[in-house]
Amino acid sequence: MLPPSVLIVEDEQAIADTLIYALKTENFDVIHVGTAQEGLDHFQGEEPSIAVLDIGLPDFTGFDLCRKIREFSNVPILFLTARDSEIDHVLGLELGADDYVTKPFSPRTVVARIRAILRRGGDGPPTTALLSNKPRIAPAPLLHHDEDTMSISCIGSQLDLTAHEYKLLAILLSQPGRVFTREQLLEQAWEDPGSAMDRTIDAHIKSLRAKLREHSKTAADTIQTRRGLGYTLVL
Ligand code: CA
Repeated sequence: MLPPSVLIVEDEQAIADTLIYALKTENFDVIHVGTAQEGLDHFQGEEPSIAVLDIGLPDFTGFDLCRKIREFSNVPILFLTARDSEIDHVLGLELGADDYVTKPFSPRTVVARIRAILRRGGDGPPTTALLSNKPRIAPAPLLHHDEDTMSISCIGSQLDLTAHEYKLLAILLSQPGRVFTREQLLEQAWEDPGSAMDRTIDAHIKSLRAKLREHSKTAADTIQTRRGLGYTLVL
């Protein structure tokens, strides 16, 4: 089986070098280019297993590159961001990126994120993707609920939740997009809903978001407030 291939589009050689070293140590096949156009050109040949994109590139931005790639490919994309404003952009534009890491980062973190993204790719071994002309299956959701073990994981790592936080998240995850009122959430997640107040739900949602944010801001943002109505989870 071929090792997964990682396309790195990063113009700062020192940053690229640490990543290349970390990835090669972990047996990834690495392709590095320094401009967005070269990154795009690379898709003329075999599609990589994952693309790691810097945002500030000499010719056009990583955002534009991501948009162009998304016109024809569902390859997983990880952004390397340098500023908070860029993170907001990554999340706000819904570019179809899978995750991001903030500079300065430890190469190990990037390797772990890459592994997690590839694991939830649900596309079989990378060789299948490389040999197939069919578009990749969209990456699995950020959140995975294992009903047997009553646990929920975020990008491959299990969340450490209280019983109420777990139940709330499980209910929201059971029907993404559906708006649940606070009353409905109380009724379903609390054994004695009469003893709890609407504000109890708000407090638990807040702590749930905080725990999710430790793993991924994107995951935390899936829980959305519908003002005057309740909460919904949007994947
Ligand atoms: Ca740069």
